[in-house]
Amino acid sequence: ITSKWDHFVHQPTVTKDGHQVTLAANIVSEKEGSSVLFNGAEGVGLFRTEFLFMGRNELPSEEKQFQTYKSILVGMQGKPVVIRTLDVGGDKDVPHLHLPYESNPFLGYRAIRYSLKEPVQFETQLRALLRASVFGHLKIMFPMVTTLTELRTAKMLLNKVKQELLNAGTQVNENIEIGMMVEVPATAIMADVFAKEVDFFSIGTNDLIQYTMAADRLNERVAYLYQPYNPAIFRLIKMVSDAAHNQGKWVGLCGEMAADSIAIPILLGLGVEEFSMNAASILQVRSYIHQLSQTEMRKLAEAVLHMETAEDVQQFIQQALNDVC
Ligand code: PEP
Ligand code: MG
Repeated sequence: ITSKWDHFVHQPTVTKDGHQVTLAANIVSEKEGSSVLFNGAEGVGLFRTEFLFMGRNELPSEEKQFQTYKSILVGMQGKPVVIRTLDVGGDKDVPHLHLPYESNPFLGYRAIRYSLKEPVQFETQLRALLRASVFGHLKIMFPMVTTLTELRTAKMLLNKVKQELLNAGTQVNENIEIGMMVEVPATAIMADVFAKEVDFFSIGTNDLIQYTMAADRLNERVAYLYQPYNPAIFRLIKMVSDAAHNQGKWVGLCGEMAADSIAIPILLGLGVEEFSMNAASILQVRSYIHQLSQTEMRKLAEAVLHMETAEDVQQFIQQALNDVC
């Protein structure tokens, strides 16, 4: 299949005024690790490893995980691949893990909270990741980090597993970037503190919006409150972006917003440097970003931070784009 954007497949993603960003793919299986290159992906910004744990009756072995991670890294031919450790719970049920019943699963036992309580499972995943790290450009990311203690504990376990592998004579890449998702408002507010202890942030707006607006992302009755364009969301994203840049770190965004034509200009203006999305959207977004000027988008973003409602933001951006594109 050809499209009018095909000539963008091997092009960098550059704004009209020469500012370069990265467009990466969100993937859920090893089969996608290389096919996304045909969609113009410059890397994988999010591999949701929970899908390795779903659709089977037992935990995936270390070997199975290793083969999967290795296959993605090799398939991506040296391009960066961000692999996120297990994010179960919330909307992601894995029956064979027998997670306890909870009346508020989104506020409960999920993601890094689960991994830190199940260190044997967590270390198995970390070992598989570290063993795979010599086959490509791996970056490791922790989901739903809420406190600094969680981050430090996860990093401590990663280092412990790494030392064990090295002591056993197993090769691992010693310079893996370690990042975390920013999906919880408390984490966005404390981003200046977190930024000192990670190499990058990836903003998970699917969750960040629901937690900021206190509106379940799956509940139709409160869907009117699930507002990606609410200025509150952009103020949080600005805090995260500024905090990262003050420490010389980079910031990506891997929620649905990364491919949203209203959000992209604002995110560009706020300094987000990696947009990770469904691979099928990449070329269209690249073509779009080529028409925008980052200098202009910076002014636009500044204005958005002072707006009052999501509706105001949406109207303002639509109007501005009519003038710009
Ligand atoms: C997010 O929350 O934005 C995200 C990318 O993670 P997930 O959709 O897997 O919860
Ligand atoms: Mg999430």
